[in-house]
Formats: sequence, C-alpha cells, structure tokens
Amino acid sequence: MSEAQGKPMESAKRGSWIRGAMLLLLLLVSGALYWTWGADRYRWADPVYVAVNGLALLIAFPTIVMRALRQTFGEGRLTVDLLMSIVMISALCTGLWLEGALVALIALISEALERAAHGQAARIDTLSTRFDAMTVNVKRGEERIPLPLRDLQVGDVIVVSEGESIPVDGEIVFGNAQVSEAAITGESSFNAKAEGDAVFAGSTVQHGFLEIKLLKRGEGTLLAQVEQSVAKARRVRTPTEVMLDRTTALLVPLILAVGLGVFLFGYLLGPEKTPELLREALRRAMTVVVVASPSALALTAPIAVWMGLRRARRRGILFRDGAVMEKLSGLSTLLIDKTGTLTVARPRVAEVKGFGKRTPEQVLQEAVFVEAHSKHPLARTIVEYAQTKVSETDKPDKFIEFEGGGACAIKGERYVKVGAFWLMEDGRDISDEVTEWMTAARDKGYTCVLVADREHLLGGIAFEDEVRTEARDVLARLRKLGVKKMVMLTGDNAKVAHRIAVDLGMNEYVAECMPDTKMRRVQKEQGYGGKGVVMVGDGINDAPALAKADVGIAMGAMGTDLAMAAAQVTLLNDSLEGLYEAFALSRRLVTSVSVNIFIACALGLALTVLAAMGSLNLLQGAVLQQGIALIIAINTALLTR
Ligand code: ADP
Ligand code: MG
Repeated sequence: MSEAQGKPMESAKRGSWIRGAMLLLLLLVSGALYWTWGADRYRWADPVYVAVNGLALLIAFPTIVMRALRQTFGEGRLTVDLLMSIVMISALCTGLWLEGALVALIALISEALERAAHGQAARIDTLSTRFDAMTVNVKRGEERIPLPLRDLQVGDVIVVSEGESIPVDGEIVFGNAQVSEAAITGESSFNAKAEGDAVFAGSTVQHGFLEIKLLKRGEGTLLAQVEQSVAKARRVRTPTEVMLDRTTALLVPLILAVGLGVFLFGYLLGPEKTPELLREALRRAMTVVVVASPSALALTAPIAVWMGLRRARRRGILFRDGAVMEKLSGLSTLLIDKTGTLTVARPRVAEVKGFGKRTPEQVLQEAVFVEAHSKHPLARTIVEYAQTKVSETDKPDKFIEFEGGGACAIKGERYVKVGAFWLMEDGRDISDEVTEWMTAARDKGYTCVLVADREHLLGGIAFEDEVRTEARDVLARLRKLGVKKMVMLTGDNAKVAHRIAVDLGMNEYVAECMPDTKMRRVQKEQGYGGKGVVMVGDGINDAPALAKADVGIAMGAMGTDLAMAAAQVTLLNDSLEGLYEAFALSRRLVTSVSVNIFIACALGLALTVLAAMGSLNLLQGAVLQQGIALIIAINTALLTR
C-alpha cells in the first residue's frame, strides 16, 4: 500500500517545496531591487516591480486561495489560510504587491510547518516491508534453499543463525538461542527461547540458531503493527486539537473585524485622505491580521501528540490514538488484575499433588493435555514446568476455555478439566483429602488449581504467585501522579488476594471474580462520578472489563490479537514500568500543550497590540509571527520529549 500511495504524495510535497523556494528567490530579488533603487523608483507603478512581485504572487496565490476556499466552503472550517487569502487580495487590489508576496510566503511556510507537525513529512521506517524483500534460508526436507521471503507460505520453516534478524512472526520448531525483542519492546535485554516459544519479526538472535515455523510475515507481523501504530493513531484528532480548531474558527472573524477597525480608524482619522494614507492604513491593518493569525496555536497539539506517540512506541507502549493518550492523563481510578499483571507472568510451581494413589507425574500429564492449548499464565507455567517430566501429549479433539476459571479438553473417552475449585463442583465428590490439601496450600498463600476427569478429582497444583519486583514502586509513583483509588480484581481465592492487596497497599480488592464481575465493577466505579476508570489486565479473560473502562490497558500482550483488540493501550513489555510510563507520557503531553497554548496566546496578543499601535511594519510583523510559530513548535517538541 505504501508503494501505491507513496508516490503521488511525494510529488505533491516536492511541488510545494519547489514553489516555496521559487517564491523566496523572487522575494530576495525584489528586496534587493528595493534596496538598490529605493522606495521612489521601485514601487508598484514600476513594471519591474509588478513583474517580480506579480510572479511571486502567482506562484503562491492559487494554492492558498484554493485551500482557503475548500476549507471554508467545502469543510466549513474558518482557518488561517482564509485570513492570509483576504490579506493577499487586499494587497493586490491596492498595489501592495511586495507585501502581498511576503504574506504568500508566510502562508506557504505555515503550511509546511503544519504538515510536518502532522507527521506527514516524516518517513515511516518500515523494517517489516524491508524484510519481505529479503532472501531467507528455507528448509525443504534436509536441504536449505535461499528464497525471497515474500514467496513463502504459512507453515514453511526458515533457519535463522547467530547474529541475524528474525524476519517473521512464528514458532520455534527446533534449536534454542538468546533473543532480543528490542525492535518491538524497546528493551534490549536478551531472553532465552527454545522449541515451542513464539518469536517476532525484528528480533535478533544471539548464541544459537533457530528453525522457525512461519506464522505471519510482512504487513501481518506484530512489528508491522507497531511500526504503523503512530501513523494510524494520528488519524483520530484529540479533544484539544478539536477545541483549538473551534477556537481558530472563532478567532478568524474576530481578527478580521479588528483589522477592519484598525484600517478604518487609521484612514478616517487621518488629516488628508490621500492614496498614500489609504495604503498606510491598509498596511497597518494587514500587519495586525498577519501577527494575530493563530498559526502557532495550530502547531502545538499535533506536534505534542506525535512526539508522545513516538516516544511511547519506542518504549513498547501502543496507544490506539492520540485522544486516548490525552484522556489517560485525567483518570484517577485504577482497577487492576492480579494474576500475570501485578504478579509475575510465570509463578513458581510450589507443589504437585496426586489424590488417592495417583502420582504427581500422572497429574501433570493430564494437566498438560489441557493446558498446552491455553494462553493463561498458569497454563503456560504448568506446560513449562512439565516439559521434562511428561511424555508427548495427545492433541484433543475439543478444547473449551472457561473464562476466569479454567479449561477442559476432550479426546474420545478422555476428558480432563483444569481450573479453580468452583469449576469442579459439578457432581464430583470432594473428599477430605482434597479439602485438607486445599486448605493447607491456601494457608501458605498459594494459588491452587485442580485437575479432574469426568467423575473424579485427580490432583492439584499449587503456585506461589509472586508480586512483580517493580509493582510496589510503580504503584507508589502512580499515586503521586494523582491516581487516588486502586482496586485489585482477581479470579483467585480470597486468601491470596488479601495477602497481595495488603502487601501492595491497594484501597480495595475483589476476589473470585468472573470476567463479568470485573466488567460490572468497572461500571460501578464509573457510576461513582469520579474522573474515569482505567482497567489494567493481561487481556486473556479481562477483555470485557478492558473494553468497558474509559481506558483499557492490556499488559504483556505480545502477540495476542484479542488483547490488542479489546484494549486502547497495549504494553508490549512484560513489566509494570510501562503502566507508569503511559500515565507519565500522557501527563507530559497535556502539560506541554497547555503551556504552549498559553505562550502562543500571550505572544500573539502582545504582537497584535504593537502592530495596532503602528510600532511594527509588515516585514517585522511577519518575521516575528513566524518566529513565534517556530518557538512554539520547538518548545512543544522539547517539553514532550
Ligand atoms: P486473575 O483475575 O487474577 O488474572 P484469572 O481470572 O486469570 O485470575 O484466573 C482465576 C483463577 O481461575 C485462577 O486462579 C485459576 O485458579 C483459574 N484458572 C483460569 N484459567 C485457568 C487455566 N487455563 N488453567 C488453570 N487454572 C485456570
Ligand atoms: Mg489475569
């Protein structure tokens, strides 16, 4: 798509740059002539004057006037272009060609600045599309043949050696290595990956080699989504941008009225009604309109949003759009999931217990039959833990996930269910051995999962669910940012929930939540009329709550499309640090924009007063006005950095 759409836009951009350069050249010529010949000789009655400045106007005039007409009548927006067009036309009508050409130049510069602010001028670095053109080593039988990546199919196995980049999203089928996912998460550490693990395009391989089954390539990869995220997010305008547009629309007629007032005042109060006085009054009015035009105001919000989104992306934080980023800064209630979010993604397996005569190995073997197909943190932990302890498992015919409770798998006569205690109470007799084991494990603060077939409880697995090392610190810093109320929501039992909630200083907690309970809690908090609710979850069974919240944040969601779809913010890094960063960046965005709006208004007003008093000529006014726009642009970039 970038190929097809890229070219026309490129040439349009180049066209406007050429026009701008030609205009500047003509103005320089005009200025030089004015300088050498003086105001008496080089004035609008002079054919050279008309030719040089007329040409300059001709270059810019159609572009700007057409744009103003389109915006005013087509889109119903009153913009700075309209102001500039009116000034240019009045200049033309009264023979102030030099001034008219100068205003045209300003309008072109403003347009270029604004275009850059909207990120349209920025080249989007697409590593993902570059990969598609690359040649990779494909395994065909025992042979390795080099083929262009774009010719490969899903399921092909490619070989990636030490020091190379992984060009696709896929699954490791053989080998192991240290893999860095910095291109996606921004975190440069290397993680050990082996058979069965997911890998993502853009990662680099060290110490080892991998054979990877291709699942997604090119535009389909997570890397492509990350790379396109900023451009995509810019398609939605933030409330502040909308507000500033409305303000501009109100300011345009006001500024025109002030300009008209200055003109009438200057002309009517003049001693003699000479043509020179008319031109003088008009020049002053034009200066007022030019310096008062709010083009600096239109720059700050787009630049801040663009910088903010880019900075976030580099840290592995994807905002769905700028409006979400702006909204997050004002929210003060945080609802947060426990397992996999506040606690580590892979808890430690503390105990495997077989009931009756069953051995722990048998229990694990049954559990893996189910959990190999679940993405739940406890499921992944069980599978990893069991890897060396059980033999190859069957593939079930049917797999059912009970959101927030567990899962079951069926193959012929074989039926296994793994999950929370409440899930097991459908007709199975719960022996004393089971209740005793559960009570003892819970007393130790363990999270328990039971394994059962159709009639009997086979065994249990206890986990020590550790709080993430950074959790306490991150929550404390969030409190300082103004997040006043924190509530932990968990599907786990009350004992574990209590211990962790107290440990982390939560305001409240709710245990034994179903996905539905979490969603209703979000609703309840929204009903309190606070400043809005943020829900943070690992996105696996928190989707309804994430979708309901004012801002839903999915964590550790690498590669789970479901989570990315339900949440408005995705933290690709498996760390709570990103949660703080997301809040902090959104705060910085809002502060930066407010500060710059204030500066732009104050300076604009000061210049307008000076121009109305006649202390500025048009040239000075124009230079100062562009200077302010540039200062605002740079200051926004610095403050949002
Ligand atoms: P949290 O809300 O704290 O993230 P979940 O809703 O993900 O917790 O899970 C709640 C409980 O449901 C877990 O403590 C576990 O007992 C059980 N559970 C859910 N999914 C699974 C699964 N795939 N395998 C085993 N147990 C599960
Ligand atoms: Mg969870």
